[in-house]
Amino acid sequence: MMNKMELLYEGKAKKVYSTQHPERLVVEYKDDATAFNGQKKGSISGKGIINNQMSNRLMEYLEQKGIPTHFVEELSERETLVKKVTIIPLEVIVRNIAAGSFSKRYGVEEGFVFSEPTIEFSYKNDGLNDPLMNEYHAVSMGLASQQEVETIERYAFAINEILKAFWETCGITLVDFKLEFGRLRDGSIVLADEISPDTSRLWDSKTGEKLDKDRFRRDLGSVEEAYEEVMKRLNEHLQ
Ligand code: ADP
Ligand code: UDP
Repeated sequence: MMNKMELLYEGKAKKVYSTQHPERLVVEYKDDATAFNGQKKGSISGKGIINNQMSNRLMEYLEQKGIPTHFVEELSERETLVKKVTIIPLEVIVRNIAAGSFSKRYGVEEGFVFSEPTIEFSYKNDGLNDPLMNEYHAVSMGLASQQEVETIERYAFAINEILKAFWETCGITLVDFKLEFGRLRDGSIVLADEISPDTSRLWDSKTGEKLDKDRFRRDLGSVEEAYEEVMKRLNEHLQ
């Protein structure tokens, strides 16, 4: 049994602890919710439990489909043992349908279905408000090599195909999502952080109802219920 040792980092949604094993960390999911780069703060009761379990189930599923991830073992409702990585400071966003900042930036109506999935990077830097960054910037700044960027893009689009198809079986449309990748000690790239309704836009396929963190961001109400609904459908459809 791996134990939490030192609190290394407390972020907006999770705490990260060292363990006895130099290449393993424990992440602990909180109920805290923030939006608009921390300007809006609140709490979604039970979110930490749902995001922990959902992220783990989805990462296990992705592993089965050949995507390497940081997931090792779920330790408790809110705690998971993961492989320690050096996070590549890029938020990798894949979109199938226009929404959120994309709609705002480019004047595209929310709900516009792209002819093919698209991808963008943001520089993961809270002080700068996570500015948009193209792959040339990322390589020139030394954040990732050209080869790593190519690997990340390949994984990100493959993850999109796998998750889009899976959520569809749950009656959920995968609109967009954010991924983070990291390097293991041997330099190989793996999917890290989380996949949850905090980091994905998920719309009910029939009604278009939002079943994700936009309910919190936009004060739509029934936030907890939406997270629970997504988890319920995942449990029904993931063997
Ligand atoms: P934020 O830093 O945006 O507030 P969180 O509250 O989710 O986000 O904090 C979790 C932190 O842990 C993030 O900075 C994330 O990049 C980092 N992280 C996620 N997975 C790993 C991992 N396997 N190894 C090292 N760091 C990780
Ligand atoms: N996202 C995220 N963390 C961020 C920014 C975005 O998880 O710091 C997710 C968000 O939940 C959505 C997708 O990435 O599923 C695209 O978000 P967008 O760029 O539209 O930004 P937002 O509208 O959330 O500001």
